[in-house]
Formats: sequence, C-alpha cells, structure tokens
Amino acid sequence: MEYTIALVRGDGIGPEIVDGAVRVLEAVGARFGHSFHFPSYLAGGCAIDATGAPLPEETVQGCLDSDSVLLGAVGGPKWDTLPANLRPEKALLGLRKALGLYTNLRPAKIYDALRGESTLRPDIAARGFDLVIVRELTGGIYYGERGRREGKYGPEAYDTEAYSVMEIERIARVAFETARKRRKNLVSIDKANVLETSRLWRETVHRIAAEYPDVECSDMLVDNAAMQLVRDPSRFDVVLTSNMFGDILSDEASQITGSIGLLPSASLGDGTRGMYEPIHGSAPDIAGQNRANPLATILSAAMLLRYSLGLSEEADCVEAAVDAVLREGCRTADLVHGGERALSCTEMTEAVLAKI
Ligand code: NAD
Repeated sequence: MEYTIALVRGDGIGPEIVDGAVRVLEAVGARFGHSFHFPSYLAGGCAIDATGAPLPEETVQGCLDSDSVLLGAVGGPKWDTLPANLRPEKALLGLRKALGLYTNLRPAKIYDALRGESTLRPDIAARGFDLVIVRELTGGIYYGERGRREGKYGPEAYDTEAYSVMEIERIARVAFETARKRRKNLVSIDKANVLETSRLWRETVHRIAAEYPDVECSDMLVDNAAMQLVRDPSRFDVVLTSNMFGDILSDEASQITGSIGLLPSASLGDGTRGMYEPIHGSAPDIAGQNRANPLATILSAAMLLRYSLGLSEEADCVEAAVDAVLREGCRTADLVHGGERALSCTEMTEAVLAKI
C-alpha cells in the first residue's frame, strides 16, 4: 500500500526526532511492503521565521491532503515574546481545529526494563502500570475567551472555560470505547466541587456511562487524581479528562514512566486522519546536539500505523523493537545516570532499526 504522511518537524529537537521516526517508518515499509511519501510542512517558530505566520495555509492544506500527520514539537525562547496570535503554539491549536481532532490519546506505561528510572518509590514502580489518558483537545480553557482588562485592583487578565454537552458526550464515548478494549475501567477527572463546567462534565459522563454498563466508571477530583497518580498509578486504566487537566496530568504520568522522552500521543477526530506527536516539547536546551530521546516520536509513529492506517502488525513490530532495545540496555541521555554512556538520538534510532 502507499500512504502519504505529512511531516511537521517544527522547532528545537523536532527535526532530529521526526527524522528518526521517518527512518523507522521506512524500515517498516521495506519489511511489510508499504511505501510512504513524506511531504514536509512548516509550523511553529520556523514558520514564523520563514513566512511571518506560525501556521501557513499551505501547511493546513498539506495536512488535510495527507493520510496522517507526524509532528515533532514547536516553540522556543526565540519566539516567546511575540504577541499571542503569532506564537508558535497557535500552530498546534490551529492544526487541531482545522483537522477536527478533538481526542488526544496519551498512553503511559512503565517498561519492565525502566522500572529503576521511574521517580516512583521502588515498591510502587514494581507494581507496574499501564494507563491511557483520553484528553479532550479542542474545547475548554485553551480555546475560551481571554484578555486583559482593568479590574478592581488594577490591570488583570482572564481566561474562560466553556464546554458544551456535545463536546463532553463525544469525548466520553471515545473514552468508554477505549475502556471496552482494555480493562473496562474508566475514571473521569473533574473539579466539580468548584467549576460549573466540571459539574456539566460529571452529569454528562454519568449519562453516557449508562450506555456502557460493562465499563466500571467513577469520578475523581483533579487534585486527588494528581496525588493518586504518584501514590498508585496501577489503579488507573482509562483516564478521561478535559483539555487542561489532561495536559497537566499526562506530563505527571510521563515522569513516573522514567522520562518524558518516552511518551507518544495521538490526536484523532471522526475520520482516520490523525496527528501524532511526542508529548514533550521542543527541548531547546538540548536542540541540535543529537542528544534527544527519539522513542516518544517513534512510538507516535507506531500509533499512526495503528490508528490512522489500520496497520496493527506493523505497529506491534515498532513497539516490540522499542521494548527490545530498552531491555538490552540502550539509553539516551535522559535515561542515564552518573558515568553511564548515553546513546545519541541517531544511535538510539539505529538500535530500533536493527530490531525491525
Ligand atoms: P520540554 O518538554 O520541551 O522540555 C522539558 C525537559 O525535558 C527539558 O529538560 C528537555 O531537555 C527534556 N526533554 C524533552 N523532550 C526530550 C527528549 N525527547 N529527550 C530528552 N529530553 C527531553 O518542555 P519545556 O522546556 O517546558 O518547553 C520547551 C518549548 O516547547 C516551549 O517553547 C514550549 O512552549 C514548547 N512545547 C511544545 C509542545 C508541542 O509542540 N506539542 C509541547 C510542550 C511544550
């Protein structure tokens, strides 16, 4: 089969890690008889430098014309002081909106070989965990009205959160369907003791839960969830969250796996086209040094194979290759301590390629 995968390398370590994932996809293509075309598009800081806009129309169109999108990361200190409508992050929010991607799937599991890397107490890490955060992606406070105004105590800023019943229903259904294919347990996160959007969230989730009697569903306040994630992550299977809560909790989940450089994500809508990216940012502190961990992006490419192209065997092959290199002790700089030798981004990619 032939597939077109739009590459949005972005800024900082983005180009290094996307190039690693492309080599892995090419190897998978060679082994399983697929050919991939990889048109490249600009977004984020590099697009601002080249065109003056964080998300050129050509990028949106190119992504719409592709089977799926693989993204590195955008942003960096160079563009931090630009006005809000010109910031690199605008590109991400714009792409998600343009492609209708309202679901963000963020799996987080502890690899047997990396239990020692987790920041969890050894006895908690030993229990293991394998959870997936289903995060709403195109609503809530990141998309609400915001601004500056004159307040009671002088100048102030405000951001607003709004969620419609429709937005909550559709993400809840994705989470329940995800739970059905896993261990059939769903925890819905909110802050219903304070926020009206959370009260609507909880009400709506309960209504949808009635359609899934085979899935055990419970609510948890976000502050408690932040605590439970480090106290006993093994209790979670599917975690359903709003946009901002999911953003924060998934970074916490990443750290207890060992490194933020390991966690992939898939952004999905109603069709098969999705956008796949590591959950970390552009890591400007290590950009251009060939030190980044490419595994989160390689695992994002595996999710792309599975969810957008329906190539499960190929996705399993990539995930097994990552598992195997970690078992053999391959480690990038984010996973080594003291005097241990770290593999470069390229060397880690080559280790994965060798397994494929
Ligand atoms: P970050 O995730 O880029 O980096 C946090 C820390 O993790 C840094 O020390 C970095 O070196 C390390 N790290 C991240 N990815 C790594 C990898 N693959 N291998 C090894 N180490 C890795 O977060 P930040 O520093 O808060 O943000 C940097 C920039 O990235 C900002 O401009 C931010 O807006 C942007 N950002 C972009 C995205 C995205 O494009 N989706 C997401 C988050 C942050």
